[in-house]
Amino acid sequence: MPEFRQNFATKEWVIIATERARRPDTFRHSQRERKNPPPFDPQCPFCPGNEDKTPAAVFQINDDGGWALRAVPNKYAALAEDLGTQRTHEGLFLRAGGYGIAEVIIETPAHDQNPATMGRESIRNVVLAYRNRYTDISLHEKVELITVFRNHGSRAGTSLEHPHSQVIATPITPPHVRDQIYQARISYDTFGSCIYCDMLAEEIRQQERIIMENDNFVAYCPFASRSPFEARIIPKLHRGSFGNINDEEVNAFSHILQEVLKKIYTGLGDPDYNFIIRSAPVQDSNVKHYHWYTVIVPRLTTPAGFEMGTGIYINVSYPEQCARFLRELST
Ligand SMILES: [Zn+2]
Ligand SMILES: [Zn+2]
Repeated sequence: MPEFRQNFATKEWVIIATERARRPDTFRHSQRERKNPPPFDPQCPFCPGNEDKTPAAVFQINDDGGWALRAVPNKYAALAEDLGTQRTHEGLFLRAGGYGIAEVIIETPAHDQNPATMGRESIRNVVLAYRNRYTDISLHEKVELITVFRNHGSRAGTSLEHPHSQVIATPITPPHVRDQIYQARISYDTFGSCIYCDMLAEEIRQQERIIMENDNFVAYCPFASRSPFEARIIPKLHRGSFGNINDEEVNAFSHILQEVLKKIYTGLGDPDYNFIIRSAPVQDSNVKHYHWYTVIVPRLTTPAGFEMGTGIYINVSYPEQCARFLRELST
């Protein structure tokens, strides 16, 4: 029988469609074959030797052979740092200046790598770059929200093969994010505790949706997952903002992020995916009611009219089965 499940934090609903439910291992076969990229592509703007095709690096990590990671302003950014945030009204309608900061993190010189296949040092560099850019960008007075994310493959919205992540800072906290924080605030007022800490404690108590854990983080498939193999990685201790991640947590986070992505890579045949680091707005970095986490969404199904019309996602898999599949997979 199908059932509705509620996301305890956001109060959003999903439908677990048992009539259409598929076993976890069947998602692998629905994947397109990804072409094996070459280790170096002379036409690629992110490959070594083509540094002049991007703006100058704002952050760089070097190793013996040259650069190991570069962060650069996004040449094709949707927003521009030299604009203001001035509101102008046109009758009923509202415009604001297109201020924002957009950067690309070129994760490694190797064109054919990705976080599931790169070395331990490389994935740690990536997380160090996330922290460095987050911290630097948060000092800009007009910035409210910093979103770190990664699009992997064309279904996830990227056309560039070279491994890269993105950081976009906006002067606006949109309703989608504000609503989550508002719900968390109400819960804190009612129960006196962080709803994300409470949910994590419940996931640990129930165990069946846990993928893996280490000293600092837990990875699990949420009870109300919106799509097959949705995974979250959350700090065990209460942490409002990704920007405050310490050195020990950088190591632990890069390790668990890579392990979960490896499991998805090997278990599902390198599917396209997005991951997003959700963090409190920069002005609220020490809030007691919000808790940063990473959500990984493999693009295995396509949201359609019902999802667009209602915001209720139909998930054709059981999160418990997806979690067990990933948990039992060795990488
Ligand atoms: Zn490249
Ligand atoms: Zn918390």
